[in-house]
Amino acid sequence: MRKEFLVFGSPLIEEEEIKEVVHSLRTAWLGTGPKVERFEEMFREYKGVKYAMALYSCTACLHLSMRVLGIEKGDEVIVPTLTFAATANAVVNAGGKPVFVDVERDTMNISPEEIRKHITPKTRAIIPVHFAGRPCNMDEIMEIAREYNLYVVEDCAHAIEGEYHGKKTGTFGDIGCFSFYATKNITTGEGGMAITSNEEYANKIKVLAIHGLSKHAWRRFKDEGYRHYYVVEAGFKYNMMDIQAAIGIHQLPRIEKYWRRRKEIWERYNEAFRDLPVITPLPPEPDTKHSFHLYTLLLKLEDISINRDEFLQEMTRRNIGVGVHYIALHLHPYYQREFGYKKGQFPNAEWISERTVSIPLSPKLTDEDVEDVIWAVRDILEKKG
Ligand SMILES: *Cc1c(COP(=O)(O)O)cnc(C)c1O
Repeated sequence: MRKEFLVFGSPLIEEEEIKEVVHSLRTAWLGTGPKVERFEEMFREYKGVKYAMALYSCTACLHLSMRVLGIEKGDEVIVPTLTFAATANAVVNAGGKPVFVDVERDTMNISPEEIRKHITPKTRAIIPVHFAGRPCNMDEIMEIAREYNLYVVEDCAHAIEGEYHGKKTGTFGDIGCFSFYATKNITTGEGGMAITSNEEYANKIKVLAIHGLSKHAWRRFKDEGYRHYYVVEAGFKYNMMDIQAAIGIHQLPRIEKYWRRRKEIWERYNEAFRDLPVITPLPPEPDTKHSFHLYTLLLKLEDISINRDEFLQEMTRRNIGVGVHYIALHLHPYYQREFGYKKGQFPNAEWISERTVSIPLSPKLTDEDVEDVIWAVRDILEKKG
């Protein structure tokens, strides 16, 4: 058994970003500045979009997306129930109601059929989440959006690299939101990016992200002479710092290299767990690019003598960090209390919630780490199987 605890989702930080952060510290330009601008430019190019706004987090991107699309009290926004809280909280914090929808058991993505069933005259938008990095069925979702005249905001927190039928994730809907949180495919520690091809949304996001000050407020510190700013909205403090972008500008060029390494680990896991009482992830659909963000095992509870939480403990005891993505949102007290959601409403998401386990999948893992993870999973399930 391995001696040191293997942290789940530990990022791979290399020498270049360490030097770049030190450079930011030495030049004492810590806040939003030239490195943020460069990171935005790089991301724009990577995604082939017109506008990219670096913010403090993906949560901030989702929240501002709701704001610029005018989501407010009385509006309903469709969200998969199997997602992180931030997806739904963005709707709530804009004043709207998150309308949960079940996911498909095999893809774990929001079900287009279920979306249709939950549309009402109050529905304004859909937030599809490309779960674990697997692109949603965007053909169907965009078709529904056109039919009912709904906005689409893609939660791409798991899917920076994703592609669906030749088009990149985040470029289907009105706005695409990305995360560079420490555990995500590339990181800035905390960080997010909102992309759009709509100039009005881009400008509104920029203004709302920095106190509602008139455009390019950070330039006022440059040597172009003092410039007054004007408050044009009651905004937020959601801007990205140069210290964060210093990491991002070196992570982004390695995105394909990291992706290939995660793919390799993914395939090794698939092969290693084939004979165990688990369901391994569905292969990526044809003509799509999976971002391989999470490797999730679904325990065949009917065939083993332990439950998922016991499995998590057994993994931890073997010094392997694990995650759960997710306990569906409608099972959490806040959404039950505030919106009346109940257990039993979304059977597929509940089925997944009870048996899902995420195991380490990071370019930081050595081959030895990967074998340690495999050993731990096999050791537990061979004894309890
Ligand atoms: C991580 C995550 C977010 C939030 O990202 P932050 O950058 O941490 O705010 C939103 N949605 C999903 C699906 C996530 O996994």
